[in-house]
Amino acid sequence: MKIGELPKPVNAAKADWLPGTHWLGFTPVDSSGEARERCRATVNAQMSSGYVLEYATRKFGDPNPGFESSARYIEEREAHKALAGRLIAVHRLRPSPLPLVEILGESEFNRLQDMWAEGGKRYRWSVAFPIVESYSIQDQPFANSVLDAESMQRLFGHPSATLRPLIDDERAQIADLVIEPKTTANIWIGIADEARMAEQSDVPRRTQALIDQDLAGSTMEGMTEEQKRQVRMRAAWLADRFIRQRVKNKSLYCDECGFDPTTKINGADVHPRSLLDVHHKCPLEEGIRLTTLADFSLLCPTCHRFIHALVRAEKRASA
Ligand SMILES: [Zn+2]
Ligand SMILES: [Zn+2]
Repeated sequence: MKIGELPKPVNAAKADWLPGTHWLGFTPVDSSGEARERCRATVNAQMSSGYVLEYATRKFGDPNPGFESSARYIEEREAHKALAGRLIAVHRLRPSPLPLVEILGESEFNRLQDMWAEGGKRYRWSVAFPIVESYSIQDQPFANSVLDAESMQRLFGHPSATLRPLIDDERAQIADLVIEPKTTANIWIGIADEARMAEQSDVPRRTQALIDQDLAGSTMEGMTEEQKRQVRMRAAWLADRFIRQRVKNKSLYCDECGFDPTTKINGADVHPRSLLDVHHKCPLEEGIRLTTLADFSLLCPTCHRFIHALVRAEKRASA
């Protein structure tokens, strides 16, 4: 998959020392609630519900005195050397941050502040947005081999406590970079948020039934009953959005064989949408990564049966 094929645009970039694995943090101007709120609002406006490109800075920070020779610091500095100046990942962040101490736990938060807090102000990176979807960029190219000099200067030529918004021209420069989905520890925060949205929307019963059938083929191993419920609701809600998009684009045909019901209806009172099934292409990935509209397809009933027969045959062969 390429960056240009993501379901939403990359709207901003973040410069970091090391890749974020389950959160990206921002440092507000002071420790007040007002400063935290302003920081949250700025980052949200910059993301505008799109993705964030992560860049590893050329330089690594100097820790507080006494930590220069700590094993953790040396290890992180070495890890940074391999990434310095490169484009490393694309993330989707949850729009509402959590206090960093809640994400990390008391002792890890204190360790981080002991090592990095500036001037005794222990709120560094304290506005932390959980990463709910993440992709690593293949070969992690040097940013200056992908972006022209002007874009490099505009995006990374100055320090910023928040994000750096991308313009169309920069999106075009990164569109062909190949990305691979990564498992994110905070995926359940994203699923739970969207399951709440799904709960409040009216998903047709037929859509839920078709998605339930697809998910029944995956065992959803290790999930609690509540997590299974959230996955089912969210997947059907996504499937419904997928169908609506296809109706809007006037692209109601079978993705496998091209069958277009409108060519057979001849003015009869039959809705073409009722003749096509929505199909979840990757039910096994639910709960592992945040699935998107790209995980669904529209199929005629014959192709749908055929695909499921193939899946069952593969399962028998590997059993
Ligand atoms: Zn078909
Ligand atoms: Zn199916």
